[in-house]
Amino acid sequence: MRLTVTTRIRTQARWIIRRPTGDLALHWALAQLPTLHLRELLHRTLNLRSIADGHEVDQQLRTLWLGELAAPQSNPDPAVCPVCHAQPGTLHSNLCDIARCALTGFQRGYCHPGTTCLTIWTGRWPGSDECEEYGFFYRAVAGRAEPCNATDDGAEHDYNRLYAECVWHVGQQRMILLG
Ligand SMILES: [Zn+2]
Ligand SMILES: [Zn+2]
Repeated sequence: MRLTVTTRIRTQARWIIRRPTGDLALHWALAQLPTLHLRELLHRTLNLRSIADGHEVDQQLRTLWLGELAAPQSNPDPAVCPVCHAQPGTLHSNLCDIARCALTGFQRGYCHPGTTCLTIWTGRWPGSDECEEYGFFYRAVAGRAEPCNATDDGAEHDYNRLYAECVWHVGQQRMILLG
């Protein structure tokens, strides 16, 4: 019981921060959640009644933080976008889960009207080039993520660090280091 509560509190603290002003700060990766589950998370934070399957929400949160919720399915052509099958150098389809927003760099959804913020599938996962350029990698050590070198065994692109330490440059259509 204590464990469950601790886990829940840690989950809350990590994804939604309630500022002293009463404002809520949402982790960018939450944009990947279905609306119902995002609302459930908000209800939890605000201590409102539950509106969705809490277990399912927790399950989704566990797969969120790496930024690769939309796991590539088996794909006959490795060069095309694993979700919308766009060819490299062409635009993702309108509702592709992998596409980033051209204006914010966050995962694209219903963020801007129509197809104004569509981005191009480069042939690589969005942000992976930047992680390699800035040396943002992590690996799991005893169940925890730890910064590491690109050449270390089990090294993964650290998209969390990318979004924590970089900002989206609209002109360059990539993440650039702050400062
Ligand atoms: Zn796509
Ligand atoms: Zn957008």
